[in-house]
Amino acid sequence: MVDSQYFLPNDIGVAALDCVEAFGLLSPQEKLYAHYLSHASWYGGLAVLLQTSPESPLIFVLLQRIFRKQSPSQLEVVATAAGLSSEEYQAFLVYAAGLYANMGNYKSFGDSKFIPNLPKEKLDALVRASQAFKDDPTEMAALWDSCSCPIYSLMDKQKQLGLGDKGITTYFSGNCGMEDAELAQKFLDSKKLSAYNTRLFKRENGDKTCYEVRLASAVKKDCAVEGECDFCCGCFDFEGKEFSVKRGDYAPIMERVCHYLQKAEAHAANDNQKKMLEEYRRSFSLGSVEAHKEGSRFWIKDKGPIVESYIGFIESYRDPFGSRGEFEGFVAVVNKAMSERFAKLVSSAEVLLPELPWPREFEKDAFLKPDFTSLDVLTFAGSGIPAGINIPNYDDIRQSEGFKNVSLGNVLAVAYSTNKEKLTFLGEEDKDLFVKWKSPSFEVQVGLHELLGHGSGKLFVRDVEGKFNFEKNAVVNPETGELISSWYQDSETWDSKFSSIASSYEECRAECVGLYLSLIKDVLSIFGHEGQDAEDVVYVNWLSMARGGLLGLEFYTPESKSWRQAHMQARFVILRVLLEAGEGLVTLKEVAAADGKPDALVALDRAKIRTVGKDAIRRFLCKLQVFKSTGDVDKGRALYEHYSTVGESGTHNFLRLRETVLLRKEDRKMFVQANTRINEESVELIEYEGNASGLIKSFVERFHDSDKLEADLLELRRLDSSCWC
Ligand code: ZN
Repeated sequence: MVDSQYFLPNDIGVAALDCVEAFGLLSPQEKLYAHYLSHASWYGGLAVLLQTSPESPLIFVLLQRIFRKQSPSQLEVVATAAGLSSEEYQAFLVYAAGLYANMGNYKSFGDSKFIPNLPKEKLDALVRASQAFKDDPTEMAALWDSCSCPIYSLMDKQKQLGLGDKGITTYFSGNCGMEDAELAQKFLDSKKLSAYNTRLFKRENGDKTCYEVRLASAVKKDCAVEGECDFCCGCFDFEGKEFSVKRGDYAPIMERVCHYLQKAEAHAANDNQKKMLEEYRRSFSLGSVEAHKEGSRFWIKDKGPIVESYIGFIESYRDPFGSRGEFEGFVAVVNKAMSERFAKLVSSAEVLLPELPWPREFEKDAFLKPDFTSLDVLTFAGSGIPAGINIPNYDDIRQSEGFKNVSLGNVLAVAYSTNKEKLTFLGEEDKDLFVKWKSPSFEVQVGLHELLGHGSGKLFVRDVEGKFNFEKNAVVNPETGELISSWYQDSETWDSKFSSIASSYEECRAECVGLYLSLIKDVLSIFGHEGQDAEDVVYVNWLSMARGGLLGLEFYTPESKSWRQAHMQARFVILRVLLEAGEGLVTLKEVAAADGKPDALVALDRAKIRTVGKDAIRRFLCKLQVFKSTGDVDKGRALYEHYSTVGESGTHNFLRLRETVLLRKEDRKMFVQANTRINEESVELIEYEGNASGLIKSFVERFHDSDKLEADLLELRRLDSSCWC
């Protein structure tokens, strides 16, 4: 029996990344720009196959060839005839979807290998019975023979990514170890070369060791003159070893990236975007990281674009040495409809802020809209999709020129939503409501949290000249009934004073503002919810907060008694406050499930939200704000730590509940992304079903030069393997 961590379960969550509303509202020019950038991203993302494992490009080509000839439903007929059970065929579809979603046969989160959850003989029978095999038996047999063993192999070294004996990597040739990586880094540093877009191949030539540093570039020819770019190709002696710097890694892929970036340039919205793309093109064409940095500088200057993107060798988590970047490319777009609703919320701030449970004097003199951008992802190519981005990674640029911090709305929405069968800890009737209203209620909560949550409340400050920003003899602390007696001294800030609890406490305050203001009819109207629908949105919003508090326990470490995630801690704190309110508002029970394993059930009494619930949040939120405004770190910390404690409280054993949460944790979801296609001058969005077949189809239809592309990938793979000793 294979350990289940090495395959993806048949019922793994697969969800379509919804971008319809946002994409539909783009102008024709914005759509073209997004279309060409998406193409550049998808083609570039194929480099990840070559960055993951030797067999990944082979498996990709094998799957593309099989599914280009037969759709998943057509192939199912073949599978049944070849003796596969429906579970075995589903396991194959899940494996294929997993390979596409991770751009290789290692999980992008956790870096462990996954293999198909069906016997090798069955997969062998299916491959040989496929139409693709019948049409071209020699080629397909060769392809299948070259990858069938590595697909299934779980030798210790192959179980995870790593260098030398520790695991598999293709950032280095197989004969490299940590000492080679260290020496190469010294060499690169001496040449002021960045490792981001490189790989290292070692060859023993008699008694001489030669290292080849390969730069990702469309141009294969080495640079002829010094100064043509920021480095010089060629051979160098370094500490008794030979290093040769060569261009042309992933050349046919980089060529396609450059081609589409150039196409996108014609539809750029402004000069910054044009210059940014020009520099990226120079980077991918010549292999220059300096050019990519230049492009990133223009990218930072392109503030609040309708179509946002970033592309290149970015994150270095998967290089065992930690300095080589994995390719990623994304295109995300402003959801104009959502932005409009958020803008309405901001323009209602004047009437909404006085509804918050603190005295007028505790509110800012003028409302300042927080810097918050929510984008919907159209395309995210690479090994996985994050819920937010904070780039560039170049430290020198971050410090002097800044960075961008963006929340990816439709990714978050999918991550928190789920199909009914997968919903944990809720009663049957709540599950239906949850599925229906989770996304709309999430949007209301996000808007309130980000804009009026983080945007509200005042800090009392005594400045360097001794002046106060409030009337010292007039402001009364509503908690004590006395004049306020503490404040921030000039140099003190919220973060410096509340240090370790500052971020979670602030998230908790913003979440409470969201819960509290979501009760207001006019707020729900802004988001288009009236009558019973509005009531359901409120109910699901509060219910999902209570459930979120329970799920949050996953991010608590009992050994160190610490929380690892600010938002999840905040939700747990709110759950505690709601439970404490009593009167049957929220009930949390440990139950025995049909599968015999421990389970839990969260319930919320709808009739008590506006009475017991509102009152509990009002009192707690007021305390949070008063301690924050007055810089009363002692009381603030005591309050927050009291509710953050994970132990036994009343009838609840939260440590035991945490075990249940871990036991019933859902696997990471896979996302199905749309394609774009030019249709008589206009760009069409093509969507796919949110399941393994939909994910497979999206990849089959994504590349329009498939024959040539697959040949190029096999050739790149062959070039790599000639260097693996
Ligand atoms: Zn927040």
